[in-house]
Amino acid sequence: MRTARTIEGLRRELGAQAGSVGLVPTMGALHAGHEALIRAARAENEVVVVSLFVNPAQFDEGADLAAYPRDEEGDAELAAAAGADLLFVPPPEEIYPPGFQTWVDVERLSRGLEGDHRPSHFRGVATVCLKLFNIVRPQRAYFGQKDAQQVAVVRRLVRDLDLEVEIRSIPTVRDPDGLALSSRNGRLSAAEREAALALPRALATRDLAAARAALASLDVDYVEIADFDPPVLAAAVRVGSTRLIDNVVLGSNDTVEET
Ligand code: AMP
Repeated sequence: MRTARTIEGLRRELGAQAGSVGLVPTMGALHAGHEALIRAARAENEVVVVSLFVNPAQFDEGADLAAYPRDEEGDAELAAAAGADLLFVPPPEEIYPPGFQTWVDVERLSRGLEGDHRPSHFRGVATVCLKLFNIVRPQRAYFGQKDAQQVAVVRRLVRDLDLEVEIRSIPTVRDPDGLALSSRNGRLSAAEREAALALPRALATRDLAAARAALASLDVDYVEIADFDPPVLAAAVRVGSTRLIDNVVLGSNDTVEET
């Protein structure tokens, strides 16, 4: 596996490769959820590119950005073992050069749920995804169903701007206790992790009222049914200083107990 840190370097590496390209955009601190995306990309493409970029534009809180876990060495090991060919690790100024002022706003889908609590989050997500699609020019890009609103926003972006990339959504990978894997889980104390398990348990009811009742003891940002394709029961909670999101697809038989 090779690592590129500049757009020019990445394009040079890609120029030396033939065949379809699959892109897995991530913010690093890779875990088995990211691994599932990389393996899915490996199965369908000749060339697999994994980007590690903690995108400042999608953080509303500076403290959350500063505290975001970073482990490039561990990430490189996991990505290579999962079958990545190229790691793209740009510094922020490579993606946002001085004077940067062009943003993509997927209007309605960026409001509600996460958008109500993180006002400029999806503008940052949509913009960096469009940039990564332009830089890497993948045939397919892989996203986790765990971030259901993100998948909906990116699919809309692709349709509205006639981008030639297929968006693949991969089921949420969970720990055996049901908690969805997240780079932020490492911040939870043992007691907080126990409290956080209320989130997958509440969603497992697949019932809005029951989920709200089950989360009553937590600091809840929202519990809602979202009319995405497919529809999901989605929630966000704060446990200590950590914010966790999760969802289950409605009208399907995947369960939150599955790992
Ligand atoms: P992140 O690094 O958190 O931005 O995530 C990068 C990609 O991995 C996104 O498409 C996420 O939805 C996906 N992802 C994160 N956690 C999981 C998980 N537990 N299962 C499946 N995909 C995930």
